[in-house]
Amino acid sequence: MIDHVSQSVSGPARSRQLNDLHGLAAAMARPRLKATVEAGSVRFRGTAIKYDVHRSPRRRKTVEISVRDGTVRVAAPVFTSKAELDRIVLKRAEWILGKLAAAVEETPPPRLAMGDTLPLLGEDVLLRVETADVARTAAQLEDGVLRVRLPPGMEGKEAVDSAEGAMLQWYRAQAAEHLAAAVDRWWPALGRGEKCRILIRNQKRRWGSCSSGGTVRFNWRLMMLAPDLVDLVVVHELAHLTVMNHSREFWSLVEKHIPDLKERRKRLREAEAVLPW
Ligand SMILES: [Zn+2]
Repeated sequence: MIDHVSQSVSGPARSRQLNDLHGLAAAMARPRLKATVEAGSVRFRGTAIKYDVHRSPRRRKTVEISVRDGTVRVAAPVFTSKAELDRIVLKRAEWILGKLAAAVEETPPPRLAMGDTLPLLGEDVLLRVETADVARTAAQLEDGVLRVRLPPGMEGKEAVDSAEGAMLQWYRAQAAEHLAAAVDRWWPALGRGEKCRILIRNQKRRWGSCSSGGTVRFNWRLMMLAPDLVDLVVVHELAHLTVMNHSREFWSLVEKHIPDLKERRKRLREAEAVLPW
């Protein structure tokens, strides 16, 4: 995250003039101005705020404070005095401390912290995100714990995105395996012609779909549901191989295999409402 505020250092007319004169004199004394970095520090309500000063000859009148990755950076003109910078930083101290505190809170990935467990086929899987000696992020289920291993040095938003990507891939792999097995189980009862092709999709609002060409698409989020709800969706899609619409004929075919159809459809709607993704 990056955030910043700017503050003009020109001040009232008289001091601007003084500053300019001072700047002119110094510029004449030093033919070439260089960008420099130095450290500064002020105390605010018992807390030391350390900051880095980046001076640049291209910066004329404004001091800009930014907070990024827990570091306070002050971009300043070459000739702004240290006392003036201290004063500006102190004036913004509350804002700076707020940004620093927010950066600390961000460090454990916010979306992953949302719940320490993930749903998998009606069970809860513990989630552990850790740094390990791996070349790329990987997720693996070990003794009921989904371990997401991040390569060394990866942190912040990059780590969150990478961990989520690995988890998504893991769910998709689970879905590919589980749904192929479920289709195999229901195929003798509902199959038509050649075995259908199964695709795992990332659909926001659909659990599955069935094309007339015999391709059945399933949402990987099915892995977050109880197994009997997954069966409901599998039976629904395979029944479409026989009846392509949602007519009474279709539902009676589904109900032949899912006797508690009404109850399960209700549970499916309830489960949809509380999915973490
Ligand atoms: Zn349908």
